[in-house]
Amino acid sequence: MRPVVRYKNWTLLVVLSILAVILGPLVSAQEATPEATPVSEEDAAPVLLFASDGMRPDFVSQYSEAGVTPTLAELSEAGVVGDNGLLQAFPPNTGTGWATLSTGTWPGAHGSVNNTFYRTGDEDFNNSSSGFDTGVLQSQTIAQAAEQYGKSVVSVQWTGTGGLDPQLDGPVIDYWTSYSFSTVLANYGLNTESEYQQVTLAEATGWSNVPESYSPALEQRFTIASNDEATNPERLFDLYIHDSTDDQAVNYDRLLVVPAEATDAATPVASPEASPVAAVAGSKDGVDAVADLAVGDWQDVKVTLAGEMDGLTAGFHLKLIGLADDASTFRIYATAIARHNATYNGCDYADSCAEPGGFAEEIASGFPSATGSDFFPLEHGLIDEETYVEQGLMSVAITGQHLGYILDDLRVEPDLLLAGGAVTDEFSHQFLALITENGPGGTANPRFDDVENDGELDGRVEKRTAFIESSYTETDALLATAMEKLGEDANVMVTSDHGFAPQWFSVNGALIMQQAGVTPAEAGGNCRIPDDVDPATVQAKICATGASANIYVNLIDRDLPGAVAEEDYDAVRQQIVDEFTNLTDPDNPDATVVAEVFLKEEINDALGVNAVHPSRTGDVVVILAPPYQFDSAAPGELISPSSFFGQHGYMPDLVDLDANINMHGTFIASGPAFLEGETLPDVRAIDVAPTTAFLMGIPGPANASGSILYDALAEAESLSELTIISISDYHAQFAPLSGSPDSFDDENALGVSAQLGGAAYLLPWFDHFRAEAQGPSLFLSANDIIGATPPLSAFFDDMPAIEIMNAFGTDAAAIGNHHFDVDYQWFIDLMPQADYPSLAANIVLGDEGTPIALPVDGATPVAETGA
Ligand SMILES: [Zn+2]
Repeated sequence: MRPVVRYKNWTLLVVLSILAVILGPLVSAQEATPEATPVSEEDAAPVLLFASDGMRPDFVSQYSEAGVTPTLAELSEAGVVGDNGLLQAFPPNTGTGWATLSTGTWPGAHGSVNNTFYRTGDEDFNNSSSGFDTGVLQSQTIAQAAEQYGKSVVSVQWTGTGGLDPQLDGPVIDYWTSYSFSTVLANYGLNTESEYQQVTLAEATGWSNVPESYSPALEQRFTIASNDEATNPERLFDLYIHDSTDDQAVNYDRLLVVPAEATDAATPVASPEASPVAAVAGSKDGVDAVADLAVGDWQDVKVTLAGEMDGLTAGFHLKLIGLADDASTFRIYATAIARHNATYNGCDYADSCAEPGGFAEEIASGFPSATGSDFFPLEHGLIDEETYVEQGLMSVAITGQHLGYILDDLRVEPDLLLAGGAVTDEFSHQFLALITENGPGGTANPRFDDVENDGELDGRVEKRTAFIESSYTETDALLATAMEKLGEDANVMVTSDHGFAPQWFSVNGALIMQQAGVTPAEAGGNCRIPDDVDPATVQAKICATGASANIYVNLIDRDLPGAVAEEDYDAVRQQIVDEFTNLTDPDNPDATVVAEVFLKEEINDALGVNAVHPSRTGDVVVILAPPYQFDSAAPGELISPSSFFGQHGYMPDLVDLDANINMHGTFIASGPAFLEGETLPDVRAIDVAPTTAFLMGIPGPANASGSILYDALAEAESLSELTIISISDYHAQFAPLSGSPDSFDDENALGVSAQLGGAAYLLPWFDHFRAEAQGPSLFLSANDIIGATPPLSAFFDDMPAIEIMNAFGTDAAAIGNHHFDVDYQWFIDLMPQADYPSLAANIVLGDEGTPIALPVDGATPVAETGA
């Protein structure tokens, strides 16, 4: 067989078998003592892998000490915690962090290099990919590995699980799909430049079956516009505003909401000028009411979808945000119409339960409608902070209900329960800098307690502090629910995808690209080229998430259409590097805006982690320093005040607690398998998945390069790890091969190829894995070393093939058919040059018919029988 080298499977080539072989050090497996066996596959206790987006380890400690996160406190005390949690991927953003936890590999291998990135060689330089796109991950996840080895998996709001390819068989609920945008109707001017339905309230007419109103009832029409008309037509609701108290006072206090059926026979009705609502007939029948609200009340409203989702359920939440006694101010809010993304491909509890009308529909119709923190209406002045927080916390409560349904009602008994949420991330984004007085170096934060940036303190530090705290306390409650459902014998690991830093400035990456002279205009969107320019004049574009940006050169013969010739590649990169390296904040000349600027090839050395993906990592990578970050920059302005107040994507090891900065993720491990009350140094995000696999008694995930955290385990002293590094069909492939490092197959793509493998590339990796090994390691070759080799080896009678295997540090090699390409004697004559023995168990000579002993290393026979 010819060597097959594909980038994405290179760790299979180098089979890093982190087999937790259970031996006393260097004793054979047969001598293992029963108590030394950590986990037999059948007896393994279930594992809960719980992650909360952006959850900071120092916040967990603070809240635990304060007694407001009792579950996290108990787990920390009874188990093992990472010293300041764990080191996350580079850059520590959501798309990279969750994938790194799930796969046990760094982004260079799993391929989710940021939330948004470009894949060189894509069919259009203007395209981009998301870290959550289906099939984007190029490494196996712990959930996929668990199912491969026969384990039962449940995943609820574990980010990225819905986009796995292959999908999971077990129940998965991962985020939701929206069919409309959130919307607000008010009868007064909001402090916003955003669109909303500004109306005047009219006297209510034509209503039936509605409560008596003790002041003249008022009405309006509320429109929920669609972002997907075919699936979710525009929906209209009639609002009936009334005064329910018979107290001789004008005090409007209630709102009835009734669906209004759109009809073709719509005729104009008296409608306030400012109202954009359509004029159509409605039932105005209180019997049809879907909501009856007092101020502050929420109501879940279900709707039925159309088109390809015909008959399926989605829903939204209504809140009456405000209603003055005299109705002079009235504001109602509708969240986006949404439906949870849910699959249960392997279900057998009911007919069609795997179909969209089965499990997914039960989730959509039988539980609260999908929702979660929605930053847009908050940042645009459409809703207040309390409404934002209430909506976000709803998502946490809903996840708890879903867990109850799957584990209690459907009685799924997972071996691996993945559960999580995002509210700790979302509230930190919105509020962290508003409660933080100082930036790095003790500089004053101009946005401390000043969301409007008007120099007036808001007096809301306590409230906003409580908001962030609530995200941790509710997440703690969800964790408790998950633990209770899974049972007392479960092993629990709690982690997160990144930490957080307060920020208050947006840096306009697109403008900097224009100033660098690599694009003719400022691009209007992230990861885009400017509108209305010839793409062949765009030398590079920027794809930013949080504080980190990948910058891609539009390279001729690599990208379409291509604008930079290969000989100009370094010069263009240098232009970009110079522009970012020299970037300063004119208003704060002493502040550090840019933390690091890397050329693509520098990232590994800079961080000691495999962060470079050959076709997805930018040609230049820029990391900003707090309080600067790339999101929501004002067009045309180099640096502008941010509309939100926390960010991630800074350097993964950035910790500056005086400035309330900590980019580390959380790590807590507790349960029967773990030690009590230990603090573990140097935990890495890539260690979580291999440790999870170990707890379940399974190998994997297949491409994982992290370590099993033996030092966290109660039985650590009885365990010893044997690392097997294995290569197969090497055939003296000293020179690199080329191949696609990406799995995409866009029709017009250039099919970008990269140099893959080669002896000079592989040896440092073999040395790396030997150094990483937490015990003895063996380097093995599975088969063909000589025979069918390139001229570089063949011309010299394959002596070079043997020498390379010696250089690799080969401990033993099995014999393949090509070893006899010339004849038996050729092979036997070559073997004394090998520093390693050759192994065989099924080779017979001629017609003798019995397996041969092979003294092929010039020393002792190493295999004699077919055993
Ligand atoms: Zn995140």
